[in-house]
Amino acid sequence: MTTVIHNAAIVTVDDRDSVHYDAAIAIEADRIAAIGPNADILARYPAAERVSGAGKMVMPGFANIHTHLTMTLARGVFEDLSPPHKPPFSGGLSPIPLPDMTPDERRVMAQLGALEALRSGTTLALEDSNDVDDYAEALAETGMRFLLGERAYDRIGTSIGDPAPYRLDRALGQRHLRIIEDTFGKWNGKADGRLRIAVSAWAPDMCSPELLRDLRGLQQRLGTWATIHLNQIWGEVAAVKAHRNRLPTEYLADLGFLHDRLICAHCRCMEPSEEKLLGEAGVTVAFNAAIAARRGLSPHIADLEAHGCTIAMGSDNMAEDMVEVLRTGLFMERIRREDGRNPTPEQALRWATRNGYRALGVPDGGWLAPGNKADLIVVDLQRAHMIPVLRVVATFVHQAQARDVQAVMVDGKWLIRDGAVLTMDEPRILAEAQRVANAAWSRQFRARLDLKVPAGFAPDALP
Ligand SMILES: [Zn+2]
Repeated sequence: MTTVIHNAAIVTVDDRDSVHYDAAIAIEADRIAAIGPNADILARYPAAERVSGAGKMVMPGFANIHTHLTMTLARGVFEDLSPPHKPPFSGGLSPIPLPDMTPDERRVMAQLGALEALRSGTTLALEDSNDVDDYAEALAETGMRFLLGERAYDRIGTSIGDPAPYRLDRALGQRHLRIIEDTFGKWNGKADGRLRIAVSAWAPDMCSPELLRDLRGLQQRLGTWATIHLNQIWGEVAAVKAHRNRLPTEYLADLGFLHDRLICAHCRCMEPSEEKLLGEAGVTVAFNAAIAARRGLSPHIADLEAHGCTIAMGSDNMAEDMVEVLRTGLFMERIRREDGRNPTPEQALRWATRNGYRALGVPDGGWLAPGNKADLIVVDLQRAHMIPVLRVVATFVHQAQARDVQAVMVDGKWLIRDGAVLTMDEPRILAEAQRVANAAWSRQFRARLDLKVPAGFAPDALP
C-alpha cells in the first residue's frame, strides 16, 4: 500500500532545513519512499492512494521527551501551586497532593493525556511513572510510539525538594528495580516495536547512591535508555547539598550516572559547572518550556547546547500540547537571552521533533527523508491566523494551534484523518476522565480535611 500526499508544503527538518512548496511525499508501508515535485512523485507511484495536501503543510510529528500522562488529573490545580524558590522548602510539587488512583482510573487519565498529545501532533513520547503496566496496553492501542520510563526511588516519608533527613528504604528501591526488569520483559519491543521500556530514576534527592548505581547497571544490561528529573526546583538542590554535600549534577557525575542515553528533565536550578558536566557527558536535556514558564523558572538552553547537550522538548505534567511547548520555548529563550532573533523557529522546531526522536533512539524518525519512518502530521494552513503563508516554518512556530493538526500518521498508519481520531473513542474518554477526576478529588478532600480547596473548584469534584 502506497500513499502520496500531493500539492502540500513539506517541512523536512533535514540537515539544511529544506522546505518544499507545492510538493509531494510518498509513503510505502511504514517508511517514506520519496519527496519531490508533484508531477515526478505522482508519475512514479501511479497506483498510490492520492491525498490532496492543497492548503496544507506536512511536517514531522513531535517527540515529547518528558511527560506524566496520568497527571492530567491535576489539571487546573497544580499549575498555580508551584513549590517555593527560596527556603523554607517542604517537599512536593504542590501543597495539595495528587489523589491516589486505581489502575483503571490511571488508565483513563493516561488515555486522556495520549488523546491530547495525539491531537497536538505528538507521535513519540517518553512517559515517566510508576506502574506503567497499568496502561501500557491502552497506550499501544493509540498507535503512537512510546518510550515508557518505569520509575525507581528509595526515599520514603516525603517527596522531591525536601532537605529533611533522608529516610532510606532499600527494599523499596529493590522492588522498583524488579518491576523495571519485569515491565521491560513484558512490553519492550511490543506493538511492532512502538512500545519500549526505559529506566527512570525519580530525582537525585529521591535516590540513594546504591540505587543509582544499580539503576545504571540495569540500564546497561537491558541496553535501554534512562531518564531522571534533574535540578528541577531549588528545594532539590538544597536537599542534595544537605544529604550528599554536593550539587545534584555533581552527585550523578560522581556515580557515573551521566551518559549519552540519559534524558535529564528540566536542568533549571543549575550552576554553570553543572551545565558543563552535562555537556561533557553528552546527555539530552528535556526543555519543558510550558511548565517551566508556569513555575517561573528558566533553564539556560543556549549554555547547555553550547556545552554539548542535545536539546529536545517535553510538556511535563497537566498539559500535552506540544504546539504550545514549542512556541513557549522560543519565547522563553528569547526573553532569557534578550535576543529577539534567536533561537530561530527552525532551531526550536528541531528541538521539538528530530532531536527528541534521536534522543529516544529513533534517529530515522522526527524528520522527513526517503527511507525514514513515516511519522508525520498534516497541518491546515487555511486559517485566519496562518494566512498569508510566506515562511511556513515561522508561521507554524509563531501562529499555529493544536487544532490545526488535521491528520497524524505513525509507521505509515493514519491515527487522525480529516480531523477525526481513528484509534481512540474520544467522547467516551472525555466523559470517563471527568468522572474519574470528580471521584478522585472528592475522595482526596474527604480524607484530608486539612487541605485548602483552591479557589473556583468545581462542586462535582468536592465531597
Ligand atoms: Zn516531570
